[in-house]
Amino acid sequence: MSFQVFGLPVSRGVAIGRAVLVSSSRVDVDHYFVAEAQVGDEIARLRQSRDDVAAELSALQRDLPADAPPELSALLDVHLMLLHDEALISATKQWINERHYNAEWALSAQLEVLARQFDEMEDDYLRERKADVEQVVERMLRAMARGTSSGWAESDVPIRATAAGAEPLVLVANDIAPADMLHFKRSVFTGFVTDVGGKTSHTAIVARSLDIPAVVGAREGSRVIRQDDLLVIDGDAGLVIVNPSDIVLEEYRFRQRQSELEREKLTRLRHTPAVTMDGERIELLANIELPADAKAAVAAGAAGVGLFRTEFLFMNRAGELPTEDEQFDAYRAVVVAMNGSPVTIRTVDIGADKPLDRLSAGELRHEHGLNPALGLRAVRWSLSEPAMFRQQLRAILRASAFGKVKLLIPMLTHVSEAVQVLEAVERAKQQLMDAGKPFSSVDIGAMVEVPAAALILPSFLRLFDFVSIGTNDLIQYTLALDRGDESVAHLYDPWHPAILKLVEGVISQARAAGKSVSVCGEMAGDPAFTEVLIAMGLRSFSMHPSQIASIKQNVLRTDSRRLASLVRATFKGEDIWGGCERLRHALTLLSGASP
Ligand code: PEP
Ligand code: MG
Repeated sequence: MSFQVFGLPVSRGVAIGRAVLVSSSRVDVDHYFVAEAQVGDEIARLRQSRDDVAAELSALQRDLPADAPPELSALLDVHLMLLHDEALISATKQWINERHYNAEWALSAQLEVLARQFDEMEDDYLRERKADVEQVVERMLRAMARGTSSGWAESDVPIRATAAGAEPLVLVANDIAPADMLHFKRSVFTGFVTDVGGKTSHTAIVARSLDIPAVVGAREGSRVIRQDDLLVIDGDAGLVIVNPSDIVLEEYRFRQRQSELEREKLTRLRHTPAVTMDGERIELLANIELPADAKAAVAAGAAGVGLFRTEFLFMNRAGELPTEDEQFDAYRAVVVAMNGSPVTIRTVDIGADKPLDRLSAGELRHEHGLNPALGLRAVRWSLSEPAMFRQQLRAILRASAFGKVKLLIPMLTHVSEAVQVLEAVERAKQQLMDAGKPFSSVDIGAMVEVPAAALILPSFLRLFDFVSIGTNDLIQYTLALDRGDESVAHLYDPWHPAILKLVEGVISQARAAGKSVSVCGEMAGDPAFTEVLIAMGLRSFSMHPSQIASIKQNVLRTDSRRLASLVRATFKGEDIWGGCERLRHALTLLSGASP
């Protein structure tokens, strides 16, 4: 049966593929295909994990103290029985045999099938056995992680023909923590759908950086979509079409080809300088999450890195933080890869929807009843862990010996925080000098992403060399809505006059003070804003490498003077709401943009 699921568009383009349902806790399992010759070994790994867990459970049972409750022994019996149940093992083998999934993926795919069957059971007792199957599978996955993997390497993922033909796959999950999104960087999925999440949630941001079509906030998506359903993801409309008719499928295949052609055309702009029609040079920088992303930044023709979100180096490490040397290696790798272009390294922005461990922001809220976006996040966390902070500062400063490094501080709200940061930088420099470790001079910038910072900007401008506007958080904090909460996604409005007024105010004040200013939030990569930001005086944009070409195309078509007087009149005038309406109207009329 064909039906549609609506969500939020977060990453453009069309993806067509078979649904692979993965529960949130399973997303961090590696998903890759094994070669035909490896199928036997993979099944052996599966059997080995079953035998290991059986031995583990039998030992547990043998060692149960005499006074242990009898239920415990009965539970172990149930787990042993499940472990040897054909529904689990033979069906998992089938995923490996027929689909060539690696053992972990096959096992979690089979768990999804069984979990659904349990969910549909009438009998409460039987329904609750789902938790037992999950625990058994969890143990087997842990056993596999302890054993050897099948030696998959990024370079040789063999995309295999499945029973249904050589079809791409689309991942469908309730939620994906940003840390787990990193797995997509080396995964086989050509698109994904999640039930929760907002347009600028970090999960969505990482999806955009991967440049694969995605829909978040699809609410019931993972409940109504079935394993192996054929999906069309319309990443521009935020729409998932499940089991489309032939005619719809054909239309989307056509659109897919068109957008591939369009992209190809855009790559030709790679070496074209980003200059407006009236000769204003615009700096187009890249946002990156991991050192490996620098390659994409260079390939896209970025003039440098405008935002390196270093927190991704801190995630998924079971609470262990990266050492100074590990960080230094990562930062230096980016600086070297950028080959003389500036690299803006932001100190860690852990917290809110980017927790250190695998919990998503939703789970954090659920477990602790707190609003992590308003808690110990970003520079607040850094200042509360001075040794960790200085360690990161030293690693960043050391990387400056290899190229042009800029240091960026997230979420500043109080001037006292800025003063503490600058003191910490001085201490870190002194420590490096004492240790004889070289570093160069580094510009220090403040992110303006809390309305308080935008409102007292001159006080920050006195202390910093540059500012970078984080529109994602600026919108979240100004409009009082959680950027990761799909239930208020309709209110997340970058066109809100309060946002435009704050952005315009920061740009004009920074320029008047002779300090450089850029926008590194998602607004910078949204073609609908290019002209208005240029008219406000912005000359530096930082975005995902995949967005650079289309923003450059817009820059080439823009005359920076065209809207300048309307912008001035709007933000100097009394009726900002009306002024912004006129501005949007003029944008649509003049540039054909679709705000
Ligand atoms: C922002 O808030 O706009 C920003 C660039 O930072 P992040 O998205 O990492 O919070
Ligand atoms: Mg931010």
